[in-house]
Amino acid sequence: MPEGNTIHRLAREHTRDFVRRLVRVSSPQGRFAGEARRLDGRRFRAADAVGKHLFHLWEGGLIVHVHLGMAGEFYRFAGPPPEPRPTVRMRLSTPAVTTDLIGPPTCELIDEAGRAAILARLGPDPLRRGANPMTVFESLYKRPDRPIGDALLDQRVISGVGNIYRIEALFLAGIHPLTRSRRISPAQWLALWELIRDLMRRGATRRRISTVDPSEVPHPAAGRGGRDPFYVYQHEICRRCGSRIREIPLSGRRMFFCATCQRKTGGGRR
Ligand SMILES: [Zn+2]
Repeated sequence: MPEGNTIHRLAREHTRDFVRRLVRVSSPQGRFAGEARRLDGRRFRAADAVGKHLFHLWEGGLIVHVHLGMAGEFYRFAGPPPEPRPTVRMRLSTPAVTTDLIGPPTCELIDEAGRAAILARLGPDPLRRGANPMTVFESLYKRPDRPIGDALLDQRVISGVGNIYRIEALFLAGIHPLTRSRRISPAQWLALWELIRDLMRRGATRRRISTVDPSEVPHPAAGRGGRDPFYVYQHEICRRCGSRIREIPLSGRRMFFCATCQRKTGGGRR
């Protein structure tokens, strides 16, 4: 499932490819055909990402809102594109480049009020300039008994964080995922926010998510998992200390953690 870093990378790519250009829009699949006809040949003004939501702003105040959900994907073709697959919901093209969107749960035409309503439901996005971590901290305190690992996936609290980043950031912060929100101090929260933001920034410039410090030698017990780009995500053995990784369901997703490196009171070894 794409996390916020992927959406931000796509927004930059679409900005580069389409902004200020007249763009052809179609819906080979047909489910976006009426909307595509309204957009076809218009000037593309901007692409913007907030959390896991992507917005294409068109001249005339029209906005396309895309959420990729679990399986949606964009495919980019430089030069003459292939015939579209019958599943392409939306195709954008200029003479130089074509982008196909396949399988999104959400691809809809909205206006500025619709966009404002979506943004009002989203917590701060660590990848956006000016995002205030203390706004998130205040939301955490509204549900003080909620586990921090659960709160991090709630897009109303903080937007853009997906399962991999919540798992790896909590590991790096040395915080046990079931730590109650009220036990997280402001300083711990600010450190966790910075970890999340830095990991996501790294992920927004590359296609592949990696959270490990390449200079950190994996624990010998980690075996094959020591070559993975993660500390604990989908691991059996902690890459750092060699302990067995625990897995629990948390907010409907698989949560991995190391009970040696991560403590309920927070404050890890780093
Ligand atoms: Zn460990």
